[in-house]
Amino acid sequence: MILIDGKKEAALLRAKLKEEVINLKAKYNKVPGLTVILIGNLTPSQIYVRNKEKSANEVGLKSEVIKYPDNIDENIVLEKIKELNTNTAVSGILVQLPLPKHIDKQKVIETIDPLKDVDGFHPMNVGNLSSGYQSSVPCTPLGCYLLIKKIEPDLSGKKAVIIGRSNLNGKPMTQLLLKENCTVTITHSKTRNLKAECLEADIIVAAVGIPELVKGDWVKKDAIVIDVGINKTDKGIVGDVAFDEVSKNAKALTPVPGGVGPMTIACLLKNTIECFKRSQI
Ligand code: NAD
Repeated sequence: MILIDGKKEAALLRAKLKEEVINLKAKYNKVPGLTVILIGNLTPSQIYVRNKEKSANEVGLKSEVIKYPDNIDENIVLEKIKELNTNTAVSGILVQLPLPKHIDKQKVIETIDPLKDVDGFHPMNVGNLSSGYQSSVPCTPLGCYLLIKKIEPDLSGKKAVIIGRSNLNGKPMTQLLLKENCTVTITHSKTRNLKAECLEADIIVAAVGIPELVKGDWVKKDAIVIDVGINKTDKGIVGDVAFDEVSKNAKALTPVPGGVGPMTIACLLKNTIECFKRSQI
């Protein structure tokens, strides 16, 4: 079984991006800039944002974090986003989710210039991705996609089962694999026989949020299994896949932690650089 080392793959990607930033600086005399807006003081969000800032600095991007208290007026946030939209030093804008209840998430997402939408959540990017046009792609599914391609460069005709239909993970993952000519089944909480669906799959991507949902006998021999889940349990952080059981059948499997997570941040940096390059055309 191939243990897919997300930390190593993310480090390789960051090294490539660092090189690219050096080249972009030589060509344009400026570097891509990432601005993150963090509202409130949720600990996981603070940790994510710190890690994003650290990684952005490591690859040579200009990074900035704008912090607001959780009772901030929605209009102040929207006005700040509009200002960042017109700031040429800012290539990518990310508003860390979740947001406090009084702030309309969709309004925030739609206020970000689609060309600076490094999360790929703007409806224009969602539409472009599903139409097969150039778009920003949400970072976690993009990371999963790159890990899958590393194991199996030719995905044409493969059967993929995606577990979970969120806008963040399941739906964009489906689009990425469709584009690779996979036959994709997207499953969710109302799917009748998830085990039977999984047993058909050459590729399984689990993005559910249920600890160890995918069991060893749900997985065909030689399947590639990507575990997006991050679940806090009494025995620590586990994924959506029962790692010990599934590793006996799968051809390749991502661990949790150390699988998809590190790729998510590396893909955010990649998206920021892509936004910068598109803005120079
Ligand atoms: P979500 O809650 O938005 O969506 C979960 C999906 O799972 C839903 O579409 C739902 O229909 C489906 N589902 C629920 N119960 C099911 C069942 N019994 N069988 C089949 N499908 C079922 O979650 P999300 O935001 O997509 O996140 C999923 C998981 O991925 C979470 O554990 C989250 O913490 C993790 N996550 C990890 C990263 C990372 O970088 N590794 C990034 C984002 C999210």
